[in-house]
Amino acid sequence: MKIDILTLFPEMFDALLGSSILGKAVERGIIEVNVVNIRDFSRDKHRRVDDYPYGGGAGMVMMPQPIHEAIASVKKGCPDARVILTSPRGKPFVQEKAVALSRQSHLVILCGHYEGVDQRVIDSMVDEEVSIGDYVLTGGELPAMVIVDAVARLLPGVIGSLKSLEEESFTGGLLEYPQYTRPAEFMGMKVPEVLLSGNHKRIEEWKREKAIEATRVLRPDLLEGVQFTECDGKRPLKGKNKL
Ligand code: SAM
Repeated sequence: MKIDILTLFPEMFDALLGSSILGKAVERGIIEVNVVNIRDFSRDKHRRVDDYPYGGGAGMVMMPQPIHEAIASVKKGCPDARVILTSPRGKPFVQEKAVALSRQSHLVILCGHYEGVDQRVIDSMVDEEVSIGDYVLTGGELPAMVIVDAVARLLPGVIGSLKSLEEESFTGGLLEYPQYTRPAEFMGMKVPEVLLSGNHKRIEEWKREKAIEATRVLRPDLLEGVQFTECDGKRPLKGKNKL
């Protein structure tokens, strides 16, 4: 997958793309990430990319021309590339959206700054606006990193085991069950006995029960979209207010 990130602060992406799982995905060529400085497309002698808003109001707005040209340059020869604007006004970025974006072959992510981007460039060049939550950040760089990370880890070969993707939170609509590692006892607290039993059927049942319980306690709003099985109905749901 190819991802172009258009930003005024390219250096912010160095750590993300040079380390950990994403760094390895780039190294192995699973994702190719190209960070483009929008300022390079300014025609202003001082490389300005923002101006005062028409109609007054606080702050500055990103001018359409540098963004238009930056997008056109990365889409040259790839008219199907999907252009995403990070924006608090956008549709919420949820796991389902990450899965849909991971099926694209070429993404262009535009990072806004200041008060945002001139509407004409949104109308003419942007396919969708995506928000990472109902709060306002100073720029679209952190949202772009969130999107790249969530999308890249879904690509074959990025995460070691496909099973981790199948079992984790939001897959199937539920949160993940609690996880434990060694030692079997820590400060008097024991790992649930069933996990040490070696009985795979019982372990799977326990995981499902705990995932339902976690979702019910922590994110009951998610339960509406969950497909319950007949067995789920027979499981006692324990612990009203704690996991
Ligand atoms: N004036 C804008 C508004 O009220 O909607 C906020 C602009 S914000 C200070 C600057 C940039 O940060 C936005 O253009 C966007 O790219 C990015 N941004 C801020 N919060 C975001 C969020 N929750 N999700 C995605 N992008 C966000």
